[in-house]
Amino acid sequence: MEEKQDYRKELFYEKKNGYDLMCAEERAGMERYCEGYKAYLNDSRTEREAVANAIRLAEAEGFVEYERGMQLRPGDKVWFNNRGKALMLAVAGKRPLDEGIVVAAAHVDAPRLDLKQTPLYEDNELAFFKTHYYGGIKKYQWTAIPLELHGVVVTKSGEVIDVVIGREKDEPQFVISDLLPHLAADQMKKTMAEGVTGEGLNILIGSAPYDDEGKDRVKLAVMSILNSSYGITEEDFVSAELCAVPAFDVRDIGLDRSLIGAYGHDDRVCAYAELKAIFDVSEPEQTCVCILADKEETGSDGVSGMKSEAFEWFVGDMCKAQGVDLRDCFAKSICVSADVTAAFDPNYPEVSEKQNCARLNYGVGLHKFTGSRGKAGTNDAPAELVAFMRRICAENGVQWQMCELGKVDQGGGGTVAMYMGNRNIATIDAGVPVLSMHAPFEVVAKYDCYMTYKCVLAAYNAKL
Ligand code: MN
Ligand code: MN
Repeated sequence: MEEKQDYRKELFYEKKNGYDLMCAEERAGMERYCEGYKAYLNDSRTEREAVANAIRLAEAEGFVEYERGMQLRPGDKVWFNNRGKALMLAVAGKRPLDEGIVVAAAHVDAPRLDLKQTPLYEDNELAFFKTHYYGGIKKYQWTAIPLELHGVVVTKSGEVIDVVIGREKDEPQFVISDLLPHLAADQMKKTMAEGVTGEGLNILIGSAPYDDEGKDRVKLAVMSILNSSYGITEEDFVSAELCAVPAFDVRDIGLDRSLIGAYGHDDRVCAYAELKAIFDVSEPEQTCVCILADKEETGSDGVSGMKSEAFEWFVGDMCKAQGVDLRDCFAKSICVSADVTAAFDPNYPEVSEKQNCARLNYGVGLHKFTGSRGKAGTNDAPAELVAFMRRICAENGVQWQMCELGKVDQGGGGTVAMYMGNRNIATIDAGVPVLSMHAPFEVVAKYDCYMTYKCVLAAYNAKL
């Protein structure tokens, strides 16, 4: 009997719950790590804030701003800020760049409600902001929850004014109203996609009229508050990037505190894993690059997205300093596309295929491929790279699970992986499983956050 059991253990691939593997010391390390993540996430509600906070943390770790043509020696640490919306960091390795670099790429933008460029209006003596949603959202989830306003207003003179309203306990917040059930008979007959419309996502921002006898008195009162606080006029919204984000604090979830609930885990949970990993790497063989990209949720286009040549500009400049062709560097490099995946949800088992889905507490989720239908729009990591990840994870005590997002033909999704693969960099997806992904309040397991950090660190420490 015993012999047969061992044979099974030897031959079968069995995924394991991390809590059955974790020692007390590792558990303490996980808790410490997650406290750092929670603090970072709580203060990083836009890509700009995520970048600014990452630079602050990096400088405390000895990173300095990259300058064009800089000669880096092994162990040198630099950061490159792409227009305040995306960030790249590097730790120079012992080996020349034509022997390849190790890249980890996450994104720091998250689904939200952007204000339109002419957002302000008054309707029936209430003032509102019109919005245009950013990224994939279920619109009904964004009504009747507290919202904060974040972003920048750039005036005609070029002055950049930072705006954060609603984060501090004594500041006002904002909300999008929803219909009371008593009068929602017609609304409730609609599909969930149609029940709340994009043009219906108007944010309530004021109700007290300005003390005069003209028209639009509430709009005027609101504009006068903004003018006295920020010195802006209505036309300044045209060159603003303001958005409404959920006002929920980052919190432990569950009686056992094993989970974290927050807005924006996707993908700041992997961004932080990369940051912490590049801070903790010391004297790596290969040069390590950490990317915090913008615009992933809208397709990675634009100057700050992963398709941008800003990446070539940064790595290419480092190559030039060594007399290396960027293409020779890319051909030998690997990339861990660190982005979240869907965790199996027992409330909705019908969308997942149990044998190949990610589970909370089973470690970092590796994806050989993503995409939809017949794997359309996938990077599809080479089997050799998957094997390499298995090996370095095993050598570094990283618990991982191989997974796929949902049942075949159920839907699908992508990450920045294909844009790295298209650059001739062998790329694999690896990230944290999430419950309620893209909702205003997402849930992750602390264990998986920690394992994703350890996975990226193992990659940074690897010799290619
Ligand atoms: Mn993502
Ligand atoms: Mn996403």
